[in-house]
Amino acid sequence: MGSLALSRVEASDQPAPSIAGEVARIAREQLAPLAMGIDDGSVYPADVMRKFGEVGAWGSHMPPEGPADLRCAIQAMAAIGEVCGATAFMAWCQNTLVWYAGNSTNLKLAKRFGDGFSTGRVLGGTGLSNPMKSFFGIERLKLKGRKVDGGYIVRGALPWVSNLGPDHYFGTIFEREGEPGIASGEPGQVMFLADCSDPAITLTPCKPFLAMDGTGTYGVQFRDVFVPDELILADPAAPFVKKIRAGFILLQAGMALGLIRDCIKIMDEVGGPLGHINRYLPQQPVQFGELAAELEAETMALARDPYNEEETYWRKVIALRLRAGDASVAAAHAAMLHCGARGYLKSHRAQRRLREAYFVAIVTPATKQLRKMLADS
Ligand SMILES: Cc1cc2nc3c(=O)[nH]c(=O)nc-3n(C[C@H](O)[C@H](O)[C@H](O)COP(=O)(O)OP(=O)(O)OC[C@H]3O[C@@H](n4cnc5c(N)ncnc54)[C@H](O)[C@@H]3O)c2cc1C
Repeated sequence: MGSLALSRVEASDQPAPSIAGEVARIAREQLAPLAMGIDDGSVYPADVMRKFGEVGAWGSHMPPEGPADLRCAIQAMAAIGEVCGATAFMAWCQNTLVWYAGNSTNLKLAKRFGDGFSTGRVLGGTGLSNPMKSFFGIERLKLKGRKVDGGYIVRGALPWVSNLGPDHYFGTIFEREGEPGIASGEPGQVMFLADCSDPAITLTPCKPFLAMDGTGTYGVQFRDVFVPDELILADPAAPFVKKIRAGFILLQAGMALGLIRDCIKIMDEVGGPLGHINRYLPQQPVQFGELAAELEAETMALARDPYNEEETYWRKVIALRLRAGDASVAAAHAAMLHCGARGYLKSHRAQRRLREAYFVAIVTPATKQLRKMLADS
């Protein structure tokens, strides 16, 4: 699986291998037995998410001092993704929540939530799909807010937000009423933390998905929710989103890398009994090993510098994310063809990988949005 190339990157470029190593151990020992239950939606792995937090999986990208560096967070997420794509997605949700709080200039908020989020004591995620589509001219903001004394009153609904539960938090954005805007940089958008324990916020379970059912994903309704100033992440939101957007996207590479590594393992596992016939397939595990090593090297290079404001850097981030989605689907598709009937069994993880891979390609920014962003820039 290109393991030589992977270990070269890990040896020379990985700042805190012990965190990713510990995460990999917990993933093997405690997450692997839950993976099928998570996939079928009967398990939401809150305890394991907290365990990952205890060994530092959610805090490495927001060091108390010095510049942010996403490499360790991505490697830890990849280790989780090797075992369970749904949990790697929840890892991304948690990491983005930490990323929002850690970058907020609302120091009261950062002080109140920073530790809880980064240690996994408090779990949660992000409702930025709609705003990310809004900033790139694809749809309008779904939440509206009205200024009142000491905060805002927010109403509207988001169709899907993951890694949620009754005591969870997530970051999202509303548009100030009377100030519509759909292009990045326009005033009137405010980013805030939603508190799921607020009685004016309703979490509605979603219809069953193709995969990701154990990810604590809900439709979220805001019925005139009072959002106090203490929960405001950024006002105005646009410059803040510009600052955090590369990190938001780069962290998703962890989901792809983990999934691709496991697809290579799956192909290798059937090499013994089926190698004599699988060698006629056009895509072989060794090629995916090379691709994974390339994607990893590019990800690690970009992840050291998530505040880079250059347009060329931003284009590289978008292009990498697009390749990561394409490569995930291609690797999972190849794993299915290599496995044959074995992988068609519901009990085999090859078909789970295929379903998970499509999520990497459709979660915001989806393949079509990434292509639009490249076309527009
Ligand atoms: C399992 C799962 C978990 C997700 N978790 C999160 C999350 O944590 N945070 C987050 O912000 N986003 C989340 N999303 C949304 C995701 O990131 C994408 O935005 C979504 O998959 C669609 O993206 P798209 O660009 O392909 O949009 P499209 O599918 O092309 O269009 C999306 C728009 O179409 C409408 N629409 C389409 N289908 C439906 C439907 N069944 N019900 C209601 N409206 C619909 C909505 O207006 C929606 O905004 C999740 C989606 C899924 C499937």
